[in-house]
This record gives sequence, structure tokens and C-alpha cells, in this order.
Amino acid sequence: MTETFDPIRYSVITEKNPREIVMLRGSGCVWKRCRFCDYHLDKSSDEAANFALNQKQLLQITGQYHKLEVINSGSFVDLDEQTIALIEEICLKKNITEIHFECHWMHREAIPAFRERFSKKGITLKLKIGVETFDSLFRESYLVKGIDTDSPAEIAEFFDEVCLLQGIPGQTLESMEQDIKTGLNFFERVCVNIMVENRMPIKPDPRVIALFREHLYPRYIDNPRVDILMENTDFGVGGTP
Ligand code: SF4
Repeated sequence: MTETFDPIRYSVITEKNPREIVMLRGSGCVWKRCRFCDYHLDKSSDEAANFALNQKQLLQITGQYHKLEVINSGSFVDLDEQTIALIEEICLKKNITEIHFECHWMHREAIPAFRERFSKKGITLKLKIGVETFDSLFRESYLVKGIDTDSPAEIAEFFDEVCLLQGIPGQTLESMEQDIKTGLNFFERVCVNIMVENRMPIKPDPRVIALFREHLYPRYIDNPRVDILMENTDFGVGGTP
């Protein structure tokens, strides 16, 4: 992480499933091996510093849409307890009844208790997983995602929403559309992230992105269950580490 990394960490999404979104900082993704990702560099082992930074973002929440999305370049389990408690407190105070959190497959067993904790307060959790593609051979041998099942149904037993990574070498129009369809069949919502160049070995493929833009973008952009991020800052948060 560069000293100067100072991303925007609070934003409001006004279209489709309107919600506030905060990008918080935790102790860091435990997996860290995905060959396309450098977001996991947004981390610190200093819990007090993380809480101070997170508190600043969380205090901006107004509750205007009664929905909040929390992202933290990893999984909810990487956030410190004070931050989780503050999320809970602010949601109760601002009448937020639905919170979206992200989580890696390796922490799936922690999800039921986490749902229960919030549901006791009348808050529904929606858990989002980055699957990137349902082609498990491609996903695990090329992307190194760390999901040891090839069953979308098994993933959907734990998770409500899925992120897909598209626009990379080896993908085709058919493979990308198949992934979106599988996502819509098994999950409540699908978020398509178009690959953006970073310092990692997997690079965007302009020809694949052009196929997506020409055929799939127009087909899915008006689907209320599909978010499409042509740039990874399209939700209004983030930046380059
Ligand atoms: S994509 Fe997610 S799981 Fe993979 S290394 Fe990055 S933060 Fe970790």
C-alpha cells in the first residue's frame, strides 16, 4: 500500500437497488492469492487506526435508502469488533434494515452466526461472494480464487449475491453470458466487474471487453438484478492502491 493511497470511502448509489456504500479497512484478506487482485493491499494490522478510519466513514451514513453496502477488500471477518458494533449501532439509529457484506468462500462457516447477530436486531444481511466465473477449472487454475466447489447451488447455500470478473483473456461472449445467466439463476443479484489494469499478472483483454460492451452491456444494463462496473470506481468508492 502506498503512503498516498487515499480512496473515496463513502458514496451513495442512486440507481437500481439504491443504497449507501462504505469502503472500510480491516486486517486484510486472508486468501490474498487471486492473480488479478491488488485490492487486498488496503489493510492494516493496527485495529485502532482501522477503527478511526472506519468511524469517519460510518458517521457519514444518513440511512436515506435504509440499505447499506459494506466493502473492505476482503471479508467481513477481517473487520475489527468495534467497527462491526458501530455498523450495528448506526444502522439501528438510522433505520437501515438491510446490509450487504462481502466474504470469501473460506469464511462461509462464519456467515450463519453473523446473520443471526443482525437478524436479532431486525437487520437482514445479504452476503456477496466474488466467484468471478462458474467455470471452476478456469477460475482455480488461472485466477486462483480459492473456491473448492464447482456447484453454484452449494455456493448459493451460503451467499445471496455474486460478483463476476469479465473482460479477461480466455473469456468469450458465450462464456461471459453463461456466467451471468448462472448467476441470475442461483443468486438474487449479480455484479459484473470489468477487469481494469493493475499491477497483477492478469490483464484486461480489450477484445473481450469490446464484446461485452457491444453485446452484453445493452442486454443487461436495464436488469434491476445486475450491476455492471465498467470501471472499479463506478460505485463511487475506491481508487488505485
Ligand atoms: S479478490 Fe478478494 S479474495 Fe481475492 S485476493 Fe482480492 S480481496 Fe482477497
